[in-house]
Amino acid sequence: MTLRVRFAPSPTGWLHLGNIRTAVINWMHAKQAGGTFVLRIDDTDLERSTDEFRAGIEEDMTWLGLTWDDYAKQSDRFAEYDKARDNLIASGRLYACYETGPELELMRKTASIQGKPFIYNRSAYPLSAEDEARLKAEGREAHWRFALKPGEIKWHDLARGETSFLAENLSDPVLIRGDGSYLYTLCSVLDDIDLGMTDIIRGEDHTSNTATQIQLFEALAEQKGLGDFQMPRFAHMPLVSGADGSKLSKSNGALSIRDLRDEGGLEPLTIVAFLSRLGTPDGPQPVSDIGELSATFGIERFGRSGPRMDPDELAPLNGKIVRQLPYEAVTSRFDGMTPAQWAAIQPNLERLSDVGDWLALIDGPVTPEIEDADFAIKAAELLPDGELDGDSWKVWTDAVKAETGAKGKALFMPLRLAVTGQPRGPEMAVLLPLIDRTKIIARLNGNVA
Ligand code: GLU
Repeated sequence: MTLRVRFAPSPTGWLHLGNIRTAVINWMHAKQAGGTFVLRIDDTDLERSTDEFRAGIEEDMTWLGLTWDDYAKQSDRFAEYDKARDNLIASGRLYACYETGPELELMRKTASIQGKPFIYNRSAYPLSAEDEARLKAEGREAHWRFALKPGEIKWHDLARGETSFLAENLSDPVLIRGDGSYLYTLCSVLDDIDLGMTDIIRGEDHTSNTATQIQLFEALAEQKGLGDFQMPRFAHMPLVSGADGSKLSKSNGALSIRDLRDEGGLEPLTIVAFLSRLGTPDGPQPVSDIGELSATFGIERFGRSGPRMDPDELAPLNGKIVRQLPYEAVTSRFDGMTPAQWAAIQPNLERLSDVGDWLALIDGPVTPEIEDADFAIKAAELLPDGELDGDSWKVWTDAVKAETGAKGKALFMPLRLAVTGQPRGPEMAVLLPLIDRTKIIARLNGNVA
């Protein structure tokens, strides 16, 4: 059977380094095995979900190269959820509860004072017809819980190993709210069945959800008459914390993908390379193609403890990646840039957004920086005749040295400052043949050119 995984974001905010990591791991896991990656938009919360965030998620995923082979949107599937709900009610697995929010809160508080976890006490299961009528008469709205069967629920987790829960220690999960809207659980499990998921990879915070979801998978598969239903495999990845070790937030690492792109000037490959190895002993690889990352990806490489994410590591990785990108990979982004120009500026790049600045040294206009005008004018006269080539810088500086006696930094720096207007930059020997001869002479004479 082909491996099928999904990334299931809720379109209630922008993707950031924390939540996109789950997408990266799922994508790598699928591609490594020749499987299928599904993007599922979890937009049943119609109030908080927006079309703008959905489009933004899709744009960010595309930019990152995390393309999807299949796509689903939960808001297209309400009729399916309604059917599953009705069947669960008919079979007695979904039951109405009438506790109000404050009543449930009190139960939770009481449990916490007693030092116990809150487990719903099933006071509404089964509920007599009279009790139900009385509760309704009080104006209460029913929410709906899924009745767990007692016993052990266990699975072999790809990230955590053997994992087991006792159903008696879990609350029956609420699947439908008082206003009739669906919680994520019913929709997610039904989608995972209908979309044929074989592997479900998500954060460790979903581990106990999985225990209850396994029973729901079984109940829904039975309703659908899927006698040969294969439970998906699960992997619950340790949660990432921020650079300071605390819960991931905007200030310590959960930077949005669009800010990293627009303000950070990062390559998509940098982000994907970083996240696909975060939490493994391997360290990020400066690769030139996303396929290299998936080919060597292994979910078993991830450790059991949650890694820290330090976004400061992204810029140096980006520099390494950019400095080995082939001309063909970047040419479409810079109109008219020649292979020789790329070769000249590439070793100096930290990010591709700086390409324009470096190209401007070649094409101008450059405002020359000149301290000693006589020296610069003399140097202009000594510029080798004919077409400049890879030897010209050496020939030229030897000539200027012989004429003026300047050497070392005192020789090279005034020439660099006059010709490029910058104290640093690509090697002059490489740069010189790329600059128009008349521009070099104009700049040495103190003109903007
Ligand atoms: N929409 C859910 C979330 O973002 C998906 C969780 C899952 O992968 O099942 O938490």
